[in-house]
Amino acid sequence: MSTQEQSAATATSEPRSPDVVVVGAGTAGCYAAATVAREGYDVVVLERKTETEAGHIACGDALKGADAFPEAIPKSKLEPAFTNTGVDHGRFEIPQEDTVLEIPVPGELAVIDRWEYGRRIIEGAEDTGVEFRYDTVVKNVRQADDGRVTGVDTIRKGDPVTYEADIVIDAAGSLSVLQDNVDFSDSTFDTNVNYSHFCSAYREIVRVEEPVEWDDALVFKPTERAAGYLWYFPRTDTEINAGLGFQMTEEPMKLVADLKKDLENRAEFEGAKVEDKLGAALPTRRPYDSAVHPGYMAVGDAAGHVNPTTGGGIAGAAYGGKYAADQAIEALETGDFSEATFWEYNERVMEHFGARYAALDVYNILSTAIDVDDLMGLLAAMPGDKLAEALYSGSTDIGLKLKLESLIKSRGHWGTIWNLYQTKRCADDLLAHYEQYPTSPEGLAGWQDRRDELMENVYETTGAEPKY
Ligand SMILES: Cc1cc2nc3c(=O)[nH]c(=O)nc-3n(C[C@H](O)[C@H](O)[C@H](O)COP(=O)(O)OP(=O)(O)OC[C@H]3O[C@@H](n4cnc5c(N)ncnc54)[C@H](O)[C@@H]3O)c2cc1C
Repeated sequence: MSTQEQSAATATSEPRSPDVVVVGAGTAGCYAAATVAREGYDVVVLERKTETEAGHIACGDALKGADAFPEAIPKSKLEPAFTNTGVDHGRFEIPQEDTVLEIPVPGELAVIDRWEYGRRIIEGAEDTGVEFRYDTVVKNVRQADDGRVTGVDTIRKGDPVTYEADIVIDAAGSLSVLQDNVDFSDSTFDTNVNYSHFCSAYREIVRVEEPVEWDDALVFKPTERAAGYLWYFPRTDTEINAGLGFQMTEEPMKLVADLKKDLENRAEFEGAKVEDKLGAALPTRRPYDSAVHPGYMAVGDAAGHVNPTTGGGIAGAAYGGKYAADQAIEALETGDFSEATFWEYNERVMEHFGARYAALDVYNILSTAIDVDDLMGLLAAMPGDKLAEALYSGSTDIGLKLKLESLIKSRGHWGTIWNLYQTKRCADDLLAHYEQYPTSPEGLAGWQDRRDELMENVYETTGAEPKY
C-alpha cells in the first residue's frame, strides 16, 4: 500500500491486515513498531488518543539510561526533548529526621519534556515506515480455535474496525484491556496480576517565579502515610514536574489534595502556576514471568517492565519493545508464531533488567510491613552511595568500616537493620534464581515452583502480606 493510500485508510477507518499490529503509541509500542518496520515489514500502531494528544502521558519526566537506548529510533531524534541534562543526584528529604540526603545517581540522567519526547518517538517510528491510526480504541482480541491471537477489534469514532495480523504486540500500558480479553489457558502468559501490584500516581507541571536551587537534583520526599513518595523533578530551573504516588495495597491517598498541601508548604512554589495535570496507574511489581502467547506478546507497563522501587519504566518499555520486536521478526521470517519462537524475548528481559526488578520488589514488599519513621531514621544514617547502589542494582555490599560507622549512627534502628539484612539475603537468593530463568516454556513451571518457595521466605522474613 502506498503512503497516500495509507493516509486515506487512516482517515476512513478502513480495516487493514498488516504483518504486525501494535496497540499503544507509548515508548514500548513505538520502539517495538520501529524495530519491526526497519526490517521492511508492514506495521500498524493503534492508539486510542487523538493525533494531537498522542504521547501526552502521565510521568515524572525523569529519564535514566537514554544513552544506551535501542537504536531503532535514533537518540538524536529524542535529544531535543531533554530539557535538563544537568541532573546528577537524588535529594532525599526526610522531614521526620530533619535531614536531607544527597545521593548520586549512576548513569546518564535527564529530565525531559515528556509530551515532546512522546511526539518525537512517534515521529521516529513513522520515519521507519510505521503507520499510526489514532482515535482507535482496541476493545477485543481475536483468537483462532487453537488459541492463537490473530488480530483485534477496535472502535474508531463510533465505527467498528477489525485488524487481522500475524502478531499482536500489546503495548497498551498499565492494566491493559487486551489481557482481560485473551484466553491464556493454553499458554505460559502470566495472569497472576492484580490491582495491589500497582501504584496510583499523579503529577502536575508547575511553573515557578524564581529559579529553584536544586535544578541539578531529583527531589524525593516520603508521603505522610506509608508506601508512597512525593517528587519534584526540575524540567528546567523554573518548570517543575511535581507529583506523588502510593501503592494500591494502602488506604487511598487524596493525591491532588496531598500534593497541593505539600506545594503550599514550600516557599519556592509561592505564586507558582500549574500548566498541566495528569494521573495514571503504574505497575510496581516483578516483571511478568512470561509475557508471550501464540501470536501475541505484551511489552512495557503491560508486562510489568518498571523498576518497582523508583517507578521508572521508560527504559524498560524501550528495551522490552525492542526484544519483543526481534522475536516478532524471527517469527515472520520462519512463519512460526508459537510461544517457543517468542521465548527468547522473556529471557532477554529477565537477563537485562527483569531479575534485578524482581529482587528490588522484595524491598517494596518490605516497605508495606515496616514502620516508615523507623526506615527513614535508618536511611538517614546510611552512606548515600551505598543507598544509590541498592536502589538501582537490587543489592549492595557495605565494607566493614562503613558498616561500623553506619551502625553507630543508626542506634535505635537495629531491629530494622536486622530485618533489612535478612531481607537482603532473600533478595539475593531471588536474584540468583532469576539468573537461572528457563530457556524454553517447558521449564517455566518448575522454575516458578522454586521461585514461589523463595517468595515464602520473603513473606516470612518481612512479615508482609503475600503479594502474588
Ligand atoms: C505519574 C507517573 C509518573 C512516572 N514517572 C516516571 C519517570 O519519572 N520516569 C520513568 O522512566 N517512568 C515513569 N513512569 C512510568 C512510565 O511512564 C511508564 O513505565 C512508561 O510510560 C510505559 O510505557 P508504555 O509504552 O509501556 O505505556 P504507556 O506510555 O502508558 O503507553 C500506552 C499507550 O497505549 C494507549 N492505549 C491504552 N489502551 C489502549 C486501547 N485499548 N486502545 C488503543 N490504545 C490504547 C495509551 O493511550 C498510551 O498511549 C511514571 C508513571 C506515572 C503514572
